[in-house]
Amino acid sequence: MLTNELTTYEYWDLKKVAIPSRSHLYQLEPVGLRTPMVESLTGYIERLAEAHCVPPEVLISRTITPLLKQIFLKSRTSRDLRSLFDRATAINGTGDIAIDLVQALQNLTLIEDLHLLTLLFWAEVIPTRNLFRTQSAWCALCYEEWRLTKQVIYKPLIWNINSVKACHLHKIYLCFQCPHCQQEFPLLSWRSQPGYCSKCGGWLGMKLAAKSSSEYMDCLTVSQEELQWQTWIVEVIGELISSTLSFNFPPAKEEIAKSLSLVIDIVTDGNVAEFARLMEIPKNTLWMWQTGKALPVLDMLLKICYCLEISLLDLLKPEQLAAKSFKKISHKTIRRSAAQRVSPKLFEANQVQDALLAILESNNEPPPTMEEVATSLGYNRRTIFRHFPDLCRAISAKYLSYGKACHKEKIQQSCREVKQIVLKLHHQGEYPSEARVSEIMAHPGYLRYKQVRAALNETRREIGV
Ligand SMILES: [Zn+2]
Ligand SMILES: [Zn+2]
Repeated sequence: MLTNELTTYEYWDLKKVAIPSRSHLYQLEPVGLRTPMVESLTGYIERLAEAHCVPPEVLISRTITPLLKQIFLKSRTSRDLRSLFDRATAINGTGDIAIDLVQALQNLTLIEDLHLLTLLFWAEVIPTRNLFRTQSAWCALCYEEWRLTKQVIYKPLIWNINSVKACHLHKIYLCFQCPHCQQEFPLLSWRSQPGYCSKCGGWLGMKLAAKSSSEYMDCLTVSQEELQWQTWIVEVIGELISSTLSFNFPPAKEEIAKSLSLVIDIVTDGNVAEFARLMEIPKNTLWMWQTGKALPVLDMLLKICYCLEISLLDLLKPEQLAAKSFKKISHKTIRRSAAQRVSPKLFEANQVQDALLAILESNNEPPPTMEEVATSLGYNRRTIFRHFPDLCRAISAKYLSYGKACHKEKIQQSCREVKQIVLKLHHQGEYPSEARVSEIMAHPGYLRYKQVRAALNETRREIGV
């Protein structure tokens, strides 16, 4: 029979094959996820922009902001975009802007867990006041090392946290000023790129050869005492930001109140006033924290933890804390950080006011920065500002306008210099090429300003070359 000879062929499955969804942007892996050196979200945006060969401004305005829900970005004008750049620290923070950015970037890259590049997980327990610095900070030796060993150049989240002032790996202070243009620059700017100054484009790593000799290095060296304190800070904050997996849920703010009650019970038998004295914290403030009516800022949590020789993680896990054994602490034996050992000076308002007025009236050049004024008076800049905001603003404005005037003067000086060089070269029968002129100039970098270039071109035109 013919039918017996029929063969059954493999048949086509006409069902649609499931193709995993494509990401709109590259699936760029964040650096150091779940480690103390995890990348920051602002740094991730910069690297993402770099991977697509566009500046952050373009990536943010064309691709990211259309996905943002925040009201302040609804109209998406350039002014709104500027406000996002101005609030860049919030992108790494604990609020709505961070949530919004994380969501948008996860949708675009299909990378999960981008919230770990921010402090969102700790939103309930870490208040944002004074948490982040608004300017960029970096370890010049980390950058250089990564460049030499061909590792990814990125911005760790921990470098943004105000309490972190040093790199524990290289035992030097973090840098805030570009070594080329001496300027500070914001966390995220229109054209920023990890490892480079967003004002002048200079490389921010420090040549390792220069490490032993340079003057720059001198001001980055951390004292032994400060180093011990900073190493501890980096350790406990690093442990905290890499430990999300050890929590089933983000810790609630009640945990802090519970832990504080617990340590007050153990250390001073429940005596709040005594504990406050021991920690050098106003009693009412401590009471607010202990009853959960207010939350201590990160610096305060660090101070308490350091004195009690426990970690931040202990404080957020009351059950872990309860199992710990505490040494008997007294005023004599308590461990105090380098920062705390300096006893605070009583604020002499009249004296400070007189000093500020004298600085404003003085014609000394260059006028001091507010930071320098604060150091010379021996008070914290913020304390002085709290008492005399207008005087402080006036002193800063004086410094800034002096800086601008100097800059203008230097440009004019360079214009005059360029003119003389062109004429001299022409006189010697040599063509005044830009390269030749810049060789002779005292500060060839000024050739990048359009006024100086205009002076070059104009003089060449005048002599007909
Ligand atoms: Zn370092
Ligand atoms: Zn620079």
